[in-house]
Amino acid sequence: MHADLLAMMQADEALGWRRRPCPVRLAVSLEPCVMCLGAAMVMRVDECYFALESPSDGGAALAAAWRPSPDLPWFAPPKLFGGIRREESRSLFRRYCDTAPESGARRWAQSLLTVSSPSAGP
Ligand SMILES: [Zn+2]
Repeated sequence: MHADLLAMMQADEALGWRRRPCPVRLAVSLEPCVMCLGAAMVMRVDECYFALESPSDGGAALAAAWRPSPDLPWFAPPKLFGGIRREESRSLFRRYCDTAPESGARRWAQSLLTVSSPSAGP
């Protein structure tokens, strides 16, 4: 289970999604994967704040290229804001890599440690 998907499911149970009184914001330590980005679109998350980029499976590039259908204008990715507490998140992944046994998940997490930060916008 991906943590962001679990958080959205718990928020759905606690708040409901159809008549929510305020924008829904998701804050996670890692760029949402494509699956979680799709879930956020279905659950109509308005904004997503994440710490560390995940170029191998993150959904930010897809969200940036998304063009809503005129028939389903609401079906769009949340606004994504990356780099929030990036180094703190990278430290958490480093700690995991230092203690976890060898596995595919550990090798994937190690790949996150060397991701360079995107250049700052204008
Ligand atoms: Zn995910």
